[in-house]
Amino acid sequence: MSQLPPIVLIDEDADDRELVSLVLRGAFGEVRILEVANAADLARVVSEGRFGLVLTEYAPGFIRASDVLRLIRDLRPDSPVLVLTRAPADQVAAELLHLAPDGLVPKTSSGLTSLPQAMRTALHRLRRRRAAAGPDARLQLLFDALPVGVFTASPGGTLLDANPRFAALLGFKSAEECTQRPLAGFFVEPEAAEAWRAGLGGGTERAALDVTLRRADGTEARLSLTSWLSAPGGPGEEEIQGVLEERAPASDAGRPGTGDETAYVVSHDLRQPVTQVVRYLELLQGEAAEKLGDSGRELYAQARRGARRIETMLDALLRCARVESQGEAFAETDVSAVVARVVARLVEAGEAPAGAVRAEPLPQLRCDAGQVEQLFQNLLANAFKFRRGDPPRVVIGAEDDGDHWRFFCRDNGIGIDPKDAERIFGMFQRLHTETEIPGTGIGLALCRRIVARHGGRIWVESQPGEGSTFRFTLAKHPRPQGERGLEDR
Ligand code: ADP
Repeated sequence: MSQLPPIVLIDEDADDRELVSLVLRGAFGEVRILEVANAADLARVVSEGRFGLVLTEYAPGFIRASDVLRLIRDLRPDSPVLVLTRAPADQVAAELLHLAPDGLVPKTSSGLTSLPQAMRTALHRLRRRRAAAGPDARLQLLFDALPVGVFTASPGGTLLDANPRFAALLGFKSAEECTQRPLAGFFVEPEAAEAWRAGLGGGTERAALDVTLRRADGTEARLSLTSWLSAPGGPGEEEIQGVLEERAPASDAGRPGTGDETAYVVSHDLRQPVTQVVRYLELLQGEAAEKLGDSGRELYAQARRGARRIETMLDALLRCARVESQGEAFAETDVSAVVARVVARLVEAGEAPAGAVRAEPLPQLRCDAGQVEQLFQNLLANAFKFRRGDPPRVVIGAEDDGDHWRFFCRDNGIGIDPKDAERIFGMFQRLHTETEIPGTGIGLALCRRIVARHGGRIWVESQPGEGSTFRFTLAKHPRPQGERGLEDR
């Protein structure tokens, strides 16, 4: 269903009215068109005043377009007026210039195909004009500059407003081009569109989804869509609002030995500007707190969450890049003591119930004790984070495997689909959205690096709903990468 406001169509010629109606229905679906064929119709429609946009023929026969423009500007100054004409456009433009119509559309076949976009542009500008006059005016500037896509849609799901980033993510040149289209129409999979709609039905909850959307040029984009219902104008005035972001691309940055330097430089240098963004957002909220409506507050909170998340991710990236460059020297370590420390910490932090971890006897090992502690910390924290309903249970053990010790960490949690078993060790790879289960998707990438520095490898054996067993090997006589042996000097 279209959320286009009712359209007044002023034209004496019934065939032309039908043609224009066809074009509108083709572009916008079900549209309410108030047809005006004579002065009496016009008087009635204008006095009732229930319309949002006027399309008038340049010479409707019973009135002139310039008079229509004057009339609407007087009575409903907010309504956009577009003029349809068979006369040469420059002549009409010159005549109507001082009345500033919101668009001139030639009544030719190619002209009429541009009509829907001219209407989108006029309605978008109107919305922006209203916003600029309202309390959220300063926020508007911020939204336009945000590096994530932000949009507003009608309760029926028609896009009403968007920022330039949103348009760019969907392959449009400007926000004006993507409004007045149903958001569900961009979904590649119709079931995903239904899931999105159903998720919104539940009230003010935010629905976060990984989605594949079709861009304007037909290509597919894997994006993350977070949306919620809000009522900026009070009850009965619901709108859907949301944020559209790029999903982290499947990356090989987590593979040991690739891209370290870049990751280091990028994460280090990006930290400062991101911290600045967080500060500015806080300042803005301080200044504009009272003026923010519901929608402003929600968008502000989103922007801040987004910036904070970037900070956390950069920190994690930096830690990952430092595994090789800033590791400690290897020393004889009692792995049982390391595990006991990690467990005590998790219990103290309330992340794990006491007595949930059973550690079998573990070996002494030459290793970077701090990194091996981090390794167990990440695996154990995940075992509790991704628990199922049952009381969580984790078993840790090790077996002699020739040149290596082979460790395992087995949980009775939600399990992992074997098709994702490799992917989860990649940087920023997660199987859940941030709202479902928080995290950065860096823990296992870090584990993989630590294990690689210790001459081993890590993998997972699991089935959904049946718990997971993470296994990793650590070399008994490691030649640590990133640390030169005596004989190299
Ligand atoms: P994060 O925990 O921050 O999401 P990780 O890199 O530690 O990132 O894990 C990546 C993904 O692997 C997790 O998002 C989760 O989907 C999956 N995963 C990790 N450990 C487990 C586990 N013990 N049980 C089930 N899924 C897990």
